Amino acid sequence: MAPPSADAKPSLIGLDRAALKAALAAAGVAPGSANMRAGQVWNWLYVHGAPDFARMSNLAKDFRALLEEKFSLARPEIVTAQVSRDGTRKWLLRTGPGIEFETVYIPEEDRGTLCVSSQVGCTLTCKFCHTGTQKLVRNLTPAEILGQVLIAKDALDDWSAPRGAAGASARAGATQRKVTNVVMMGMGEPLYNFDNVKAALSIVTDGGALALSKRRVTLSTAGVVPMIPRAGHEIGSGLAISLHAVRDELRDVIVPINRKYPIADLLQACREYPGASNARRITFEYVMLKGVNDSLADAKELVRLVKGIPAKINLIPFNAWPGAPYECSDWSQIEKFAEIVNKAGYASPVRTPRGRDIMAACGQLKSESVKQRASARMAQESAMAQAQSAHLARMPH
Ligand code: SAH
Repeated sequence: MAPPSADAKPSLIGLDRAALKAALAAAGVAPGSANMRAGQVWNWLYVHGAPDFARMSNLAKDFRALLEEKFSLARPEIVTAQVSRDGTRKWLLRTGPGIEFETVYIPEEDRGTLCVSSQVGCTLTCKFCHTGTQKLVRNLTPAEILGQVLIAKDALDDWSAPRGAAGASARAGATQRKVTNVVMMGMGEPLYNFDNVKAALSIVTDGGALALSKRRVTLSTAGVVPMIPRAGHEIGSGLAISLHAVRDELRDVIVPINRKYPIADLLQACREYPGASNARRITFEYVMLKGVNDSLADAKELVRLVKGIPAKINLIPFNAWPGAPYECSDWSQIEKFAEIVNKAGYASPVRTPRGRDIMAACGQLKSESVKQRASARMAQESAMAQAQSAHLARMPH
């Protein structure tokens, strides 16, 4: 599933149903059966998690061979898989030279949340965020975004076994889901990669595919205001806002996109967010930075700002990273801050940091990828492709 290089087979992962059907028709499936074939492949890919065509046992052998010849189903390659003392898992994934990104799974008693990346690197340069120190390399494709969910479900054995398969009922995946929630809170700004995020999430929430309710999917933005209404209408997931400051002078510095879209405009977009209600509240994320944004006056202003918006406020203890210019607020200060917010009637859970020991907590994700000149990247890709075909040619047939 490398980005298209001259001889790579196109991936079927991440295509919507219509595009999947069109791809099969173009590969020679008779128009009369393209619909049914696309439905079968879709079901294998997204209900049973088939990693290859050979697994699709109700498709004729020669049809499987045709698919194999024309298309790829490859997942991202797992570079490292780490498990934290608290059970949080982090995967570093790779889909091509210099294209590396991270995905984090956070198990809790009543749910399992997968934190998914939308870009390699980021353009936003938020001062407290580790990813913000990595320049944008590129947007992830729908296949790469969805691939993160597939990888996690593979690793957690979270697929439904095909009907009639031996041991189906004994499989954990058949009884209790492991990935119950997806949050677009990994590397990158999802609203700067709108189309690809939308394509991937539509498969995550499709009742005949990964079948997560839209209520269990949350998109987090630093505040790309013009895209917020579209996110509501076209994606329809929950919304989280990385607010982090209550005055423009400070937000301009720590979340620089604020210079383009100031707090008042951001909050107006939240007031108008389609589907927000007391049952579907907008989450405001607020990272606690010692001596920077954690005064009790800030807490009061926060409450005043979100008045009238169905809101939840998530106070996030700052997670440190090498060279970070901030410290986490003292615990006693976080408690006082939280009390003001709670008294105003907002549930304000202080998010317990998860996975800090493996650098998997909020704002700690980063990969070594750097943007290369297109010419250098293409040279490297073609060298890899040549090495691969030489390797395949050496393999016994
Ligand atoms: N670009 C999107 C998606 C990233 S979500 C956004 O900004 O919302 C990641 C969340 O972790 C954001 O709320 C981000 O502000 C927060 N975060 C970043 N660095 C952090 C850190 N060092 N400690 C705690 N939270 C952090």
